Formats: sequence, structure tokens, C-alpha cells
Amino acid sequence: MYGKNALLGAAVVFLALCTSGGVLADTRVGVAVLDITPPLGMPMAGYYHERGADGVLDPLFCRALVFEQDGQLAALVALDIISITRPLTDAARAGVEQATGIPGAHVLISATHAHTGPELSQRSQRSEDMGGKQTITVEYTESLPGRIVECVRLAHEQLSPARVRYSTGWCDKLAFNRRYYMRDGSVGWNPGKLNPNIVLPAGPTDPEVGIVYVEQPEAAGPTQSVATYVNFAMHPDTTGGSKFSADWPGALGRVLASYHGPHHVTLVGNGTCGNLNHCDFFWGWPDSGPFEQHRIGTILGGAVFQAYKDLRPVAAGPLRVRSELVELALPEISEDEIAAARQTVAEVNSDRGGNFMRLVTAYRTLNVAARKGQPHQVEVQVIALGQDVAWVGLPGEVFVELGLALKKRSPFALTCVVELANESVGYIPDRRSYAEGNYEPVSARCAAGSGEKLVDVAARLLAELHAEGSGT
Ligand SMILES: [Zn+2]
Repeated sequence: MYGKNALLGAAVVFLALCTSGGVLADTRVGVAVLDITPPLGMPMAGYYHERGADGVLDPLFCRALVFEQDGQLAALVALDIISITRPLTDAARAGVEQATGIPGAHVLISATHAHTGPELSQRSQRSEDMGGKQTITVEYTESLPGRIVECVRLAHEQLSPARVRYSTGWCDKLAFNRRYYMRDGSVGWNPGKLNPNIVLPAGPTDPEVGIVYVEQPEAAGPTQSVATYVNFAMHPDTTGGSKFSADWPGALGRVLASYHGPHHVTLVGNGTCGNLNHCDFFWGWPDSGPFEQHRIGTILGGAVFQAYKDLRPVAAGPLRVRSELVELALPEISEDEIAAARQTVAEVNSDRGGNFMRLVTAYRTLNVAARKGQPHQVEVQVIALGQDVAWVGLPGEVFVELGLALKKRSPFALTCVVELANESVGYIPDRRSYAEGNYEPVSARCAAGSGEKLVDVAARLLAELHAEGSGT
């Protein structure tokens, strides 16, 4: 099992530079896709009510991208599921290391946060009540590490010389901050279409579209592509219903494949979208259903296509990976709150109408109580490719303010801040939003200041890796 010590020891790896004209050379890349659509009837994740899948709108995939430079390896894995847990990541990393030789610490496993995917077992107190304990869920969950290993193994097998370029696109007015200042002075959460009491959004969005593009070494057009890694921040909760779907990341993949060809693989690493979704409350049209993911995939795909014109080669530098464990404090809860939470869950689970925030509060309290005072130990992971591109894996649903702060502090031209990476502690709001309250801060299982702590660690790791990459 890949454990804490190995993680702490995740060394920065220096490589002999193999450069050609100052750009990344001698890079090999492999990509693979594996269908992970669960059986019908399986409980679905995403909401505070239990529902079983009764069809497949579009399949769910595990996608893996493996980079090799001078024998040094790293893998990015994107899963069309709600989130990934620490035990699953540990098991998958151990298996990947055994099957391919890629060090477990060099594997970044992220979930797209699709809300029309399967529930997993042992994700949280709430997920256990939403079907996580069913045999079908337990069996599927236990099968996931093996599927991830197989996907990375296939990608590793495909390693071939490749050219890697990057670009940053811009996609405004597609994602929205879902928290609003209301006329009564409160902060509203998803306050409803055309609500006249909305004053203005309570926070920003992140319109940047991070793009890492892989193609054949001598490629002269779009059909000689291999893969696109897209980093964009928006909740994949645009489809709803009870049919499996990868939501907008799946739709984006179909749009990109329509240009490059069916061989092309699109990996989505979701950005810091804890408080961002696609709902435009100043627009009256309905925005939940299969048609909505198509609209979003088309617009976001357009932003990617436009950004292709600015693709730049990744500046030379070694491939390097570093992880650090960070301790996050628990929010304070009292014995009275725990007793009230137990009662609420028992009462409200059969009658949820009008009790949503009570249930949110109760599950947060029970999740925190189950830790028996033990603070969270979470991983911040940074992968740097050359001197221009870095990925940061963060362990939960991170507020956009934190992602923007981190990007501003990063010395890399493109920093893909990927949330729900390797594990999840749930929502990670910024300090100000804790003070302003409502859904995400109320449900957060880590104390105020946790997000800022993660940003500080990630910014330091980015600075260290950048300095080491340039030999300074
Ligand atoms: Zn979410």
C-alpha cells in the first residue's frame, strides 16, 4: 500500500535536460481511455436524495495521460465520477507503480465531479446513507483502483515521441458564482431564476481555460493530435436526472473529437469550482438537461479551438513532482450539535422537503464527529512539465477565490489548479465566505483558513519546483 512515508518522501526528481532550441524535447506521451460506466440500478451521487440509475445518456470514462522525459514518468488520470477517496488513490497508485514503474507519488488522480455518476462507498456519512452501503456500490468502488491501474498501464504501453504545447483560452459568461448578495443583506445560494432580490454575485469566476495539447512530433494539423488536457472551473451539474452521464466534460470531449477525429482524447481536470456553476440567474431559459451540456460543450470547445492559435511549445526543463501532506483543523462542534444531528438525520431522511439546510448541517456535524478530533491530513501535489506548465492537485471542492490567488502566485505561465485530486475533504471555502455563511461553508468539514493554508503550501511548492527547474 502506498503510504504516508512514501508520500512525504516524494522526491523532487531532476533529469538530465534533453533540449532542442530551448523547448521540451525527447518527451514521450501515452494516452488511454477505459469505460467505467457502472451497471444500471446503481445508486447515483450528487444530491441529498437517493436515486438509482435507469439508463445511460453517455458513458463514463477513466482517462490517463502519461508523460516520460529521459526515463522519468508522471501520470494524470481523470475520472468521470463525483470524487475520489484516499484509500482508492492509495490502492491505485500502488497498483500503477507495480504495473508500470511509474512512482505512485507521480500519479495525480482527479474526479471531474460529474453529478450523474455513481455513488461510491465510504465517501462520507451522507453517501453511506445515499446507497454507499449497497453491495452493488461496494463492489463497484472496490473495482475502481484496478480500472485506474489498467488505464494507466495501457497509456504507459502507448508511450511514443510527442510534441507538447500549451495555451490559455478565455471563456467568459459560461460559469457563474452561485453565491449572491441579496437585498435583505444575506448571502444567497442558487437563489433562483430571475430572482428580483439578487443584488450582485458574492464572488468572482475564473474564465481562464488551461490547455495542454499533445500531438505527433511532426504534426501539421488537427488530425495528427493525441490528446488535450483542459482545465476549467465549473460544477458538472448541468444534466440532472437518473441516467449516467459525464456531463459537460463528456460533451466537451465530443466537440473536440469532432475536430480532431475519434482517436482524440480529452481529459478534463476541473478547476476550483466549489462556488461556481453554469446557472445564469439573470437568464430565464431552463438550464438543466442533456441540451445544456451540449450548449456548454460547444461554447467551451469554441474557446479551446480559439486558444489553439496561440499554442506555444513548453520551455525546456525537467519533469518533476512533489507532494506535501498538510494538516487541516476541524470546525468546532459541540456534543449538543452531535445529538441534534443524529436526530435530524433520523427524522429528515424520510421527509426532506424544506429541511435541506438542516440536513446539510447535520451531515457536516456527523462527518466531523466521526473523526474524533483527528485533524485532516491531506495531500497537495504539484507536477511541473518544463518551465511553463504545472498541475496542482488540491483535495476537495475549492472556492474560486483560492484558485485565483494561487494562479497569481505561480511562476508558471500555465498553472492547472485541479480540485478533487487524490481525495476530498468536501468544500474548501475561502475565509471570507466562511464568515458569510450558507451552503458550502455550512457543509465544510475543515475549519476556516484551511484553503489559505493549502494555497500557501502549493505556492511554495510551485516556486521551489520552478527555481529548481531553471537550476537556480
Ligand atoms: Zn460540488
